[in-house]
Amino acid sequence: MLANIFRDESDDGSWSVSQSVSPVGPAGTLRLVLGDQLSATLAGLRDIDPDMDIVLMAEVREEATYVRHHKQKIALVFAAMRAFAVSLEARGVTVRYVRIDDPDNTHTIAGELRRALAATSPRRVVITECGEWRLAQALSVFAAEATAPVEIREDDRFICSHARFRDWASGKRTLRMEFFYREMRRQTGLLMNGAEPEGGRWNYDAENRRKLAKGVRPPARLRIPPTAETLEAIADVARLFPEHFGELETFGWPTTSVEAGRVLDDFITNVLPGFGDWQDAMAEGEPWMWHSLISTSINLGLLDPLDVCRRAEAAYHAGKAPLNATEGFVRQILGWREYMRGIYWLKAPEYGLRNALEADRALPWFYWSGETDMVCVADVVEMTRTHAYAHHIQRLMVTGNLAMLLGVHPDAVDDWYMTVFADAYEWVEMPNTRGMATFADGGIVGSKPYAASGAYIQRMSNYCGPCRYDVRAHSGETACPFNRLYWGFLERHRGRLRDNVRLAMPYRTLDAFGPEKRDALLAEAEAARLALGADPLSAGETRSSPAASGYSDSSP
Ligand SMILES: Cc1cc2nc3c(=O)[nH]c(=O)nc-3n(C[C@H](O)[C@H](O)[C@H](O)COP(=O)(O)OP(=O)(O)OC[C@H]3O[C@@H](n4cnc5c(N)ncnc54)[C@H](O)[C@@H]3O)c2cc1C
Ligand code: SF4
Repeated sequence: MLANIFRDESDDGSWSVSQSVSPVGPAGTLRLVLGDQLSATLAGLRDIDPDMDIVLMAEVREEATYVRHHKQKIALVFAAMRAFAVSLEARGVTVRYVRIDDPDNTHTIAGELRRALAATSPRRVVITECGEWRLAQALSVFAAEATAPVEIREDDRFICSHARFRDWASGKRTLRMEFFYREMRRQTGLLMNGAEPEGGRWNYDAENRRKLAKGVRPPARLRIPPTAETLEAIADVARLFPEHFGELETFGWPTTSVEAGRVLDDFITNVLPGFGDWQDAMAEGEPWMWHSLISTSINLGLLDPLDVCRRAEAAYHAGKAPLNATEGFVRQILGWREYMRGIYWLKAPEYGLRNALEADRALPWFYWSGETDMVCVADVVEMTRTHAYAHHIQRLMVTGNLAMLLGVHPDAVDDWYMTVFADAYEWVEMPNTRGMATFADGGIVGSKPYAASGAYIQRMSNYCGPCRYDVRAHSGETACPFNRLYWGFLERHRGRLRDNVRLAMPYRTLDAFGPEKRDALLAEAEAARLALGADPLSAGETRSSPAASGYSDSSP
């Protein structure tokens, strides 16, 4: 049975989704809207004829479980899809909405397209290109075999098109984000003063590295209490995906563009002024700091990235946000987000096989359980389990840095990042993990590995004070594991990294140690790797997931 959207007149008049048979469409167009394509201006909806066309939306198990996404992510996508379907119906559009518990659900997107094709006999099918290579392949196969013509349109909700990114990348030996970002500033005019960057500099990163001083607290944040419809999606996930990672009780993500707009307004007004200063700071028990909490909304299509940047720019011009904060924020979206998407599509699918450092270890169990004496790691995992969120520096310099120092296989790292965050989509997750965090791409994204000892975490957080490990010590069981691992990591990869000019200084220090001490550092790092459970993988074993680890919330 299929689901139709209707206005429930009997109770409080709110919109809801019910189970009923959808009308068979006239010979119009069948238009697929995926779970992260929830934009009224989507390319595939632009020329819709509400009298003739049918929109297909489907909640399928394959998308919810190809990695075992955090419960909040699945609830968010289902709730936002249902709300979007309701908004389409309000515009007079017929929606063929297939719910996750529909007994006829084939549980793949291609399967639902085939079923809709047979049931509605459309003149043609319109698809907006999807974000992930895996699904793009399945949709290409569908298009080749479909009984009606299929048009796949470019997803133009990004500021940089595929063609433009390819042009920029063409002929370049290195593809550094900073130069791409400058091009995007010129192209959009964002924070530009004629041909010059606003304030005379392209980048104010050097001013954005403050640690949280004692007595300074991050601002209170607007979280969105779930509506009755969102609570229904939450209940569905609790019932159907009980073994997935994470908690549902703390759900507070926007599920509509109106709610997402409220979160953005709150950020621009109350939080953006401090975004730059504390962009890299971490504090125990403080999940949000001065971050915007909009990645889930932009990635679903509830917010438009260029519009978000223009809102921040307007706050700067109105004197309500300083330049270091505004530029830092715009760079994340106009620069990093667009660049990561460009790299993913430029290099897929080969990018997903890259393992430049030949990392071959299992992901330690504490990435799921949070059970570790490392206060920094325990805090990040706990926040991630509770909120499906950790901010950028926690993802990069705590969990990412540790995975790289331990030599965890990039498949297992990808699997973890895709599983645990509410904003995880492969096109943005993978270049961040294989590129930025673990250097598995061999230097496409980063000019050097973001490897750091405990000193970095101590400088940017309050984690180390209460930690059982000693952040000043470099060897022995009570020494900070990041320190025990750091020099061994550099020594282990001497052949690959010694000639990297950006690592010249640490390698000079390492060289001065002499061969005996260097062997001792290698042994120290190996002891730390084994102590933390980063055991060598057996042949052919690469991935690590809650399922593979036998994870459940009741696991010890
Ligand atoms: C290892 C690793 C994995 C990551 N996985 C994801 C992921 O699956 N999905 C995802 O959306 N982001 C990912 N990021 C990027 C970044 O951490 C998140 O976008 C950010 O933490 C989301 O929180 P926020 O909205 O509060 O962001 P803010 O810190 O407020 O930043 C504003 C916006 O900028 C964009 N942004 C910032 N940094 C990046 C970046 N490095 N790459 C792409 N966009 C960026 C996001 O859209 C974000 O909403 C990852 C980063 C790392 C290091
Ligand atoms: S001492 Fe090391 S392990 Fe402990 S919180 Fe600091 S960086 Fe993390």
